Amino acid sequence: MLQEVLNQIGRRNRFVLTSHARPDGDAIGSVLACSQILRSMGKQADVYLFDGVPHVYRPLPFSDQVVQTPRIPDNYEAAIILECDSVQRTRLEGLERQYLINIDHHSSAKPFGHVNWIDPNACATAEMIFRLAREAGVKISPETATCLYTAVLTDTGSFCYAGTNERTFALAQELVRAGADPVGIAQNVYFSSSTSKMRLLGAALGNLNRDGALAWMYVTREDMARTQALEEHCEGLVNYALAIENVEVALFFRELSDGRYRVSLRSKGAVNVAKIAEKFGGGGHECASGCSIDGPLSAAVERIVGDLQRHGFRQVQ
Ligand code: 5GP
Repeated sequence: MLQEVLNQIGRRNRFVLTSHARPDGDAIGSVLACSQILRSMGKQADVYLFDGVPHVYRPLPFSDQVVQTPRIPDNYEAAIILECDSVQRTRLEGLERQYLINIDHHSSAKPFGHVNWIDPNACATAEMIFRLAREAGVKISPETATCLYTAVLTDTGSFCYAGTNERTFALAQELVRAGADPVGIAQNVYFSSSTSKMRLLGAALGNLNRDGALAWMYVTREDMARTQALEEHCEGLVNYALAIENVEVALFFRELSDGRYRVSLRSKGAVNVAKIAEKFGGGGHECASGCSIDGPLSAAVERIVGDLQRHGFRQVQ
């Protein structure tokens, strides 16, 4: 399928690149790297994102060229959608008229494009973009390596999540060789948090609940307002609940303006949380997934815990 993606790229010149709304490190790193690779191939490649680039990823090369918009113009020959399971999840208007190339590594990925290259064995979509560059004969520049390394670092949970293997480290080695600076990237991603994010973490930890092998925490709209936190500051907070000894599944709930809740689900491996998220219209990976669910909070927790139990999860272990 990689070859088919390259065939379709070879036939066209003007590309729009995008990913899902509320982009994470793999979404940002992969679109920025892919745009640079396409430009090296002599193509026009413009990146559009509904939510723009989160603050933490703004040091990445060419992040200032990303256009934040709800709508893409018509003057492109194809759209490359990375790390995203549907046109709807980009939240962009105008993609439905494009020739769609879908590149994704999620186990819940869907073949919504005209060409669909889906590889759940890739540790990040960035790994697929690296393979695309190699197959196309494009040399990875230090800037592209920086974007790809950031994507791999964040999507593997700093080389900790299930699926991290010798291939992941071989990829990291190639990216560092190509000019990615692992120390500088780690400083930007993990040691440059805003005070608001840390205060929000405090609020979330104050709302921590534990029941056997399940831990869950939440932040309300009031918590967000009091700490002056942005939506993007929630990224990664769920891991503090998963970090507890003997906890197998962790949930993080963020109250939305309409009273619904955004949920992040994480597992240490015994439970496939992608299956749970899919039940509620979301998706993701076996060990990391997300969805939105109706409130109130107690009902949202009940529904997800009930579903976990139906999947064989025992709360008290
Ligand atoms: P997070 O909890 O960090 O928002 O997301 C964890 C993983 O699940 C990411 O790989 C993300 O792309 C995926 N994910 C989160 N929310 C959704 C959703 O609503 N739909 C789908 N298909 N995937 C999601």
